[in-house]
Amino acid sequence: MSRILTMLCGHCRCVGNVRSSKEMTPLFREVTLRCTNDMCGHVWVADLIAVRTVSPSACPDPEIALPFARSVMIRNLGLQLELAFRDAANDPG
Ligand SMILES: [Zn+2]
Repeated sequence: MSRILTMLCGHCRCVGNVRSSKEMTPLFREVTLRCTNDMCGHVWVADLIAVRTVSPSACPDPEIALPFARSVMIRNLGLQLELAFRDAANDPG
């Protein structure tokens, strides 16, 4: 299921739909929206910026430096602890 990106119009609070967008960088896109209220007609530009990783990529690009969400760091720390305990339990020494 896909969702359509919308944003409320700052003037009349009706839904604004994306009319066009332009990639500025791999993590930054400029989006042009138009208010669906024909009496308003407001058209504006908004920035869409990737700010953090929620689930790591299976094919990461080394050029992309996007911080991890706190939940991802906690999950990774839990996995590392689990592996360390397994190694310790299997160590005959
Ligand atoms: Zn409007």
